Amino acid sequence: MIYHFENADPSGKEFLAVLERNAIDFEQGVFDRTVVRILGVIKPEVREELAKIYGRRSRAGTRLSPAKALYSEFTHRTEPIIIAGPCSVESEEQIAETAIFLESVGIRFMRGGAYKPRTSPDSFQGLGRSGLKLLSHHARKHGLKVVSEVMDRSQIGDLLEHADIIQVGSRNMFNYTLLTALGSVDKPILLKRGMAATIDEWISASDYCRRGGNDAIILCERGIRTFEPKTRNTLDISAICIAKKLSGYPVIADPSHATGDADLVLPVALAALSAGADGVMIEIHPKPEQALSDREQALSFSQFEHVLRKIADHRLGRTQSPEMG
Ligand code: PEP
Ligand code: MN
Repeated sequence: MIYHFENADPSGKEFLAVLERNAIDFEQGVFDRTVVRILGVIKPEVREELAKIYGRRSRAGTRLSPAKALYSEFTHRTEPIIIAGPCSVESEEQIAETAIFLESVGIRFMRGGAYKPRTSPDSFQGLGRSGLKLLSHHARKHGLKVVSEVMDRSQIGDLLEHADIIQVGSRNMFNYTLLTALGSVDKPILLKRGMAATIDEWISASDYCRRGGNDAIILCERGIRTFEPKTRNTLDISAICIAKKLSGYPVIADPSHATGDADLVLPVALAALSAGADGVMIEIHPKPEQALSDREQALSFSQFEHVLRKIADHRLGRTQSPEMG
């Protein structure tokens, strides 16, 4: 059982009342493990009160940086984490519309690539710093946390300023100088699996950040290259379970890049969540047919709402089997 209080009232009135109402759960050990997470500055007398109620097990008084507090949303999640947004930041209109939409459907994490690792130098390369600024401006206006990719050490300063979670993409998973540099930043790192990396290589890559002092790591299974050309990549379902077990980090899945096909995003997302993924990252676009990158895999807003409903049904056990489309 997890009790989570964000921006806690310093007087403790609100959360002490909830905890009091549930005191019986604690006393009778109804749950295997009870976690009480209180984010915010609380008065010393309230801390003492908590320590009295929960005794030695209380870690009241621990102060988390905003980055660590954000990361704890992944490590102590009560529902799947959903990150959504366009492949690339393309225009102010696109980002503003997407941020308004995401807030309206209760999503808290918005993705968008500003520095884009494109296979061909002739493809759209992203808007760089100005794209990041657009993304953070509109995301923050709607209370959304920003997830964006870093490709090079020289971009870290921009990401520190404009992103809440820094993504390292598949093509950079083996970039040890970049990973080492990210070891000294106070932001969670979303580390995507290299498209031809073994699970051990992926976890070893995360060790470069950890060695540097940053262990706020989220792993992302985004599919690996196989002989199968019907999908862009092959989502390695068992890797989700293995990586979680071996690393202890939260592991999310990216059904968009794994499949490269909007029709496959829903069933593959449900499969990943069934396998124990802590969340999913999904590409959406206000006008998918006009997307400047990864057009075939982008979901429209209404398709994404359908995915959200199916994820909710799935959690409640109302879905028999994942469907396509
Ligand atoms: C992305 O998430 O925008 C991306 C480029 O994905 P990947 O690194 O998994 O190819
Ligand atoms: Mn993409």
